Amino acid sequence: MYLPQEIIRKKRDGEVLTADEINFFIQGVANNTVSEGQIAAFAMTIFFNEMTMDERIALTCAMRDSGMVIDWSHMNFGGPIVDKHSTGGVGDVTSLMLGPMVAACGGFVPMISGRGLGHTGGTLDKLESIPGYNITPTNEVFGQVTKDAGVAIIGQTGDLAPADKRVYATRDITATVDNISLITASILSKKLAAGLESLVMDVKVGSGAFMPTYEASEELAKSIVAVANGAGTKTTAILTDMNQVLASSAGNAVEVREAVRFLTGEYRNPRLLEVTLASCAEMLVLGKLADNTEQANAKLMEVLDNGKAAECFGKMVAGLGGPADFVENYDNYLEKAPIIKPVFAEQTGVVSAMDTRAIGMAVVSMGGGRRVATDAIDYAVGFDGFIRLGEVADENKPLAIIHARSEEQWQDAANALRKAMTIGGEYTPTPNVYCQIRAEDV
Ligand code: URA
Repeated sequence: MYLPQEIIRKKRDGEVLTADEINFFIQGVANNTVSEGQIAAFAMTIFFNEMTMDERIALTCAMRDSGMVIDWSHMNFGGPIVDKHSTGGVGDVTSLMLGPMVAACGGFVPMISGRGLGHTGGTLDKLESIPGYNITPTNEVFGQVTKDAGVAIIGQTGDLAPADKRVYATRDITATVDNISLITASILSKKLAAGLESLVMDVKVGSGAFMPTYEASEELAKSIVAVANGAGTKTTAILTDMNQVLASSAGNAVEVREAVRFLTGEYRNPRLLEVTLASCAEMLVLGKLADNTEQANAKLMEVLDNGKAAECFGKMVAGLGGPADFVENYDNYLEKAPIIKPVFAEQTGVVSAMDTRAIGMAVVSMGGGRRVATDAIDYAVGFDGFIRLGEVADENKPLAIIHARSEEQWQDAANALRKAMTIGGEYTPTPNVYCQIRAEDV
């Protein structure tokens, strides 16, 4: 009935595509009757002409429905199915605390996460630093752990949104990744295939963010909120700061260690706490587990302080094959790098800016992330004890503690970190959480 080239032509000429045309094209992507060249041309027409919100909703739903859409109804969870996604950052270990915190408040979080991308860390890579943790369980185990622990964080399976996989691979090699319509549909098709009732989208802003400016982050957030709600999943976006490393650490095992210490109350970085609470509170409100943000925050602090959130984390780890006593004895399980020592700034002064992207790339250079998909990860390397913006770096206060495989690697990481930090000059504080964008705002 339709021809792919006619659909491309119509969009090329600035016309609006119907949902049927978009469905036809995406079905062709999924069953290989649409060629890579046609996907490239389709993506490029969207890059230049953008899509209306209705077109984006149709594209998201078509890609979501190109594979399995999980239906959790047979599991009788007995609570709302809620999730969070972030556009990615450095030291963004939020998911590891957020899932258990929401679970401890009565939510169910079947979270499908990704690996590190470019300079950003990946939740899956972090979790794989836990010995035995299986990121690819069967759907039955995924569902059962979600039911028992309230949260299960696992990897993408091949049958979720396979059309996006093909479209993204072509976008990646044809300079069409950075387009709001395509990013919206790509992120949401995968998330909505996980059978969620509601979603919080954490869109990062700043020097380590995926989007280049505040305005672009805000535009993406609005697009995601309009499209996800239009596709039937209650969604709020929050804009949060990535002008500095979010946690006190960046790497894999170092971030898992920080997550456990956060959950048990050993140490809670205040920035990380504020950003994590902001996402969690929205999840509780969307899931009707709290009437408002204040009530949500009170519940969340209670499950942090009474150990219930840490308990949910421990159950998730054990349920997915990790050690049963991980929360109690995490230090016995997480690998440590042979060289752990601080790096100091070359001059005393206030840290006024961080090139957070460069810090993320320093982690990748140490082997804590991948340059190509086949690279192996060194889970032990990275940074912790990060200085914060506005603090004074001097001979007593290091920029960070480097966890390195060798002296040479320590030196390279020290050079990269010193270069990434601006010492002295004007420091203008930025908020940790800029704003919430809810369905009624778009
Ligand atoms: N992440 C995705 O999953 N898709 C995009 O298009 C961009 C980032």
